[in-house]
Amino acid sequence: MKNNYRICRRCVMDTTDPDIEFDANGICNHCRRYYELASKNLFPGEEGERKLKEIVTKIKEDRKNKKYDCILGLSGGLDSSYVAYLAIKFGLRPLFVHLDNGWNSEISETNVEKIVEKTNFDIYRYEIDWEEFKDLQRSYIKASVVDIEVLTDHALAAFIYKSAAKRGIKFILSGGNFATESIMPKSWNYIKADAKNIKAIQKRFGTREIKSVPLLSILKRGYYKRILGIKTIKVLNYIEYNRSEAMKILEKEFDWKYYGKKHYESIFTRFYQGYILPGKFGIDKRRAHLSNLICSGQITRQEAIEEMKGEIYPARLLEKDKEFVLNKLGFSEEEFEKLMQEKPRSHLDFPNVVATLKFIKCIKKVLKPS
Ligand SMILES: [Zn+2]
Repeated sequence: MKNNYRICRRCVMDTTDPDIEFDANGICNHCRRYYELASKNLFPGEEGERKLKEIVTKIKEDRKNKKYDCILGLSGGLDSSYVAYLAIKFGLRPLFVHLDNGWNSEISETNVEKIVEKTNFDIYRYEIDWEEFKDLQRSYIKASVVDIEVLTDHALAAFIYKSAAKRGIKFILSGGNFATESIMPKSWNYIKADAKNIKAIQKRFGTREIKSVPLLSILKRGYYKRILGIKTIKVLNYIEYNRSEAMKILEKEFDWKYYGKKHYESIFTRFYQGYILPGKFGIDKRRAHLSNLICSGQITRQEAIEEMKGEIYPARLLEKDKEFVLNKLGFSEEEFEKLMQEKPRSHLDFPNVVATLKFIKCIKKVLKPS
């Protein structure tokens, strides 16, 4: 196995992604894809400025006399906080929405509060029934599937769509962005839109029905997008998005605090990325995050290699987090470690919408005017 080890010469993706491919120059498929897609997804400079201006005008026009003209899921993390800052700078009137799945860190909660207080915009909070969410997370750990975070990501997207539809808001401002999150091997996560898969896994391993966690079927999502015309605007794709610059601005404007590392705003996410993924699946997501930053020119490859040499989880923090997470999820150490030893299973071992999505894609292709 060791002999077959290879790492990209441009980024830090390596053969821990089982599907990685290298070209004759030793450059990986992720790098190549990044540059291919960057021109279609990223609009830094004047073009982005112009496009963003057009979008902002459209949003303002659409909801001229209404209280809110757009909606924004505010987690207190860097990306969504920075979008909140930009929205206000552009003179938009966002409704902030915030989902509490029981794991939000104090720092991110405080960040949300500070932004709301300073901007004076409304926030709509929704708290998922903790016992239900706990049961779902336990099911995913028992199922040995790779993407446990799909639960939060799906619920959040469903919650934002539903909140927008309910109020007739057509524009969702998203912190999702190409420059820092486009590189992610297929086998390291799963489609976020698959409510059928969530229900199936819960049915098999869970003890509760899903009532409080927001879910969104492919059909309903299609209805929101095509019939109601709800659009997601990835604001950060239209600007020169530099994470460290953004942090400085947020610190200054909102007294915002950083929680350390991408997506570490939740203790569960930290434990998942720092312990479950590397320990059970051999995945170190730092590789994908750092490779993104290399491709988008925010750090050098050497800096990324240095960063990778650092511990993924400082021992004392791991010990503290592990005790906290296991206790919160109701696993004994023995029970949990036994599950960690179980063979990973594919999400596709359970009912899913992958075939339906492929079918929709084919239909779209046929219907698309050439
Ligand atoms: Zn690469």
